[in-house]
Amino acid sequence: MKFNEVDFDTYFKNYPNKEGFFGKYGGAYISPELKDAMEEITHAYFTICKSAKFIAELRKIRKDFQGRPTPISHLERLSNHIGTGVQLYVKREDLNHTGAHKLNHCMGEALLAKYMGKKKVIAETGAGQHGVALATAAAYFGLECDIYMGSVDIKKQAPNVARMKILGANVVEVTEGLATLKEAVDGAFAAYAREYKDAIYCIGSVVGPHPFPMMVRDFQSVVGIEAREQFLEMTGELPDSVVACVGGGSNSMGMFSGFLNDPVDIYGVEPLGRGPKQGDHAASLTYGEEGIMHGFNSIMLKDENGEPAPVYSVASGLDYPSSGPEHAFLHDLGRVKYDVIDDEETVDAFYTLSRLEGIIPAIESSHAVAYGIKLAKQMDKGSVLICLSGRGDKDMDYIIEKYGIR
Ligand SMILES: *Cc1c(COP(=O)(O)O)cnc(C)c1O
Repeated sequence: MKFNEVDFDTYFKNYPNKEGFFGKYGGAYISPELKDAMEEITHAYFTICKSAKFIAELRKIRKDFQGRPTPISHLERLSNHIGTGVQLYVKREDLNHTGAHKLNHCMGEALLAKYMGKKKVIAETGAGQHGVALATAAAYFGLECDIYMGSVDIKKQAPNVARMKILGANVVEVTEGLATLKEAVDGAFAAYAREYKDAIYCIGSVVGPHPFPMMVRDFQSVVGIEAREQFLEMTGELPDSVVACVGGGSNSMGMFSGFLNDPVDIYGVEPLGRGPKQGDHAASLTYGEEGIMHGFNSIMLKDENGEPAPVYSVASGLDYPSSGPEHAFLHDLGRVKYDVIDDEETVDAFYTLSRLEGIIPAIESSHAVAYGIKLAKQMDKGSVLICLSGRGDKDMDYIIEKYGIR
């Protein structure tokens, strides 16, 4: 399928190119030592990608340890409740081990670390989900694990902090700036620059310098591949629309990659938080501009000095001032439509899915659910497949305290 001059039949062969670019976005804007470290990772990744042993090991892990494939659930009561005839479905990444999609790339990254002979994995975390997933992978493979986390998020996500510690990870508190995800990334980057000989930086999304946006997408593509096959088997057709929330953009890139070459409308949902004023949201693709941050060129939110702007969202996992370069590319191309959902709509969707379907969604995923509901109200027939990136156990106390029971 051709879309605005980009041929999606051969898309994955051509994007990213050798230097890690998706059009003008991506690349590796880093110091020479780190550039060498990234090239070592790229080389190792391309080698193991072709190794039957690596592929077999990853397959076995997904099936026997993660519990894949995760199912698709038809949201019958919610669809009836909306009443337009549109049918809603969710891809259940909340049922993936550790409760979110993040284990999909963490197991891949940690397996890569093992093949490269590294002793330690380093990462940042926002909601704590990436930290928990990586700490899980580290425990599975017997690797040391340092997780950088902002103090604000440490307070908000106490159960995940406890999980990481129980799993044997070292949680490093970051107190700089707003002390959330962006500062945690800065902290993890600085640590990696010191320790890259013995450690590998396992980036938590399709962001950072090449090869991470490509590698994380490839590891997450299992979500889209499974979902496409399952949906066809369940309904005999493809969904009309596919929806996922976009923070850094990994669950969405995984989901979207399965449908880019299909006649399917694709929607990426960004957090509008308290509203469109700078500092009140984290909708980088919707309100941002081109810029370089954390080693890659993408669309980002900037302050008056051109630095990454302060961001906010009720969902810790979405409050990052940029998104992966591939999203910026698909945004400019028009292949994916990016739109926003605010905190209030998100909390409503959190309760709606819980009450009508018995599924408590992560507050990040609730953005996608809210958008799926919105779409279903506007359409008069068809189907919407939503990526339910994670489960909401981690958010329950915070939601009840801040918003009360609805
Ligand atoms: C981290 C997280 C996200 C956001 O990350 P992406 O890279 O944009 O997928 C979304 N949902 C859940 C449950 C998360 O833990």
